[in-house]
Amino acid sequence: MARTGFFGGTFNPIHRGHIHLAEEARKALKLDRLILVPANIPPHKEAHNLCTSAERFEMCRLAAENHEGFEVSDFELKQGGKSYSVYTAEHFSEIYPDDELFMMVGSDMFLCFDKWYRFEDILKKVTLAVVSREYDDMESLKKKSDELSAFGKTVIVNAEPFPLSSTEIRKMIAGGQNYSCYLPEKVVQYIRLNKLYGNAESD
Ligand code: ATP
Repeated sequence: MARTGFFGGTFNPIHRGHIHLAEEARKALKLDRLILVPANIPPHKEAHNLCTSAERFEMCRLAAENHEGFEVSDFELKQGGKSYSVYTAEHFSEIYPDDELFMMVGSDMFLCFDKWYRFEDILKKVTLAVVSREYDDMESLKKKSDELSAFGKTVIVNAEPFPLSSTEIRKMIAGGQNYSCYLPEKVVQYIRLNKLYGNAESD
């Protein structure tokens, strides 16, 4: 039985905090594959300055290169409309019926997980794994984990937080600040080449 993890997000753009989460979860949970799933339209937050699905998919693909076991799925992009994780969980449990499935989230999504559409059904299919993204959220993660245990399995991955957001990066790019250390190198090149997020630099 293989161990498959999937990690959804807007990835607008994908950054080192996302990669950190994915790598820490892959190691801690001994995943055979970790699938990045860019959302078409995220249901849980306002999407600001969202670049196209093809651009976000391509940035995920570039970020996944050189990371062992990483894959990218266009399932949610092809579905269209709002991207509800329950359908993604059902999809992966259909294509990997013999695998143990894990779904990765950061703290903010974990803490509101019980507001997600059909979250009980998601927890019937997957173990929900959280990686903290702030230094002081461990108590609240433990409390939420206890609450969710009535519905299914959760894991708090033991990893240092890596506080960073796409919002901050979009602001840095638009403001002409140096953002290159926050993103995989190939994603930086892609943003420059395609002049995304108001990037004014030339190559
Ligand atoms: P935005 O700032 O545009 O709202 P974001 O940085 O929160 O974006 P998303 O693509 O919306 O990124 O997040 C996808 C998933 O990655 C969520 O589960 C989120 O909690 C998680 N995540 C994002 N950044 C980090 C981080 N630095 N550390 C751990 N998890 C993170």
